[in-house]
Amino acid sequence: MGVDRYSGLPFVARFRWNVGKTMEKFYRSFAEKKILAARCEKCGYTVVPPRQICPKCYSTISEENLVELSGKGVVESLTEVAFKLDGKGGYIWLEKPELLAAIRLEGASSTIFARVEGEAKVGSEVEPVWAEKIEGKPSDLISFKVVE
Ligand SMILES: [Zn+2]
Repeated sequence: MGVDRYSGLPFVARFRWNVGKTMEKFYRSFAEKKILAARCEKCGYTVVPPRQICPKCYSTISEENLVELSGKGVVESLTEVAFKLDGKGGYIWLEKPELLAAIRLEGASSTIFARVEGEAKVGSEVEPVWAEKIEGKPSDLISFKVVE
């Protein structure tokens, strides 16, 4: 899978790059509304998005150790943002501030950062919000929303 451009970065990459086998599986699994993590065989650390090297003990994590998470998680920290990067070194003010959160998904040792919809606070339970049309791409996972 190649990525032409990722708008969240403060620059525009004018080339294609390969996300690697593990991240490709991570994104492709979005087509089935699945979120994969990599569980280290040696120490049990479970990292999402999955990595080929364990961030805790630096062991290699093979593809056989990809595990599916439920997608449900808990907000560990959050911040309100008023603008987003435009990918050209500037920024665009948002019409309405958004919440960005560090979310610990059930079964994961690490947190992921994502936009959260609803009245979120530390400790809120959240679940993924998927795009109407899912294609196995990063854009399939729109955000997380607070579970009522
Ligand atoms: Zn490990």
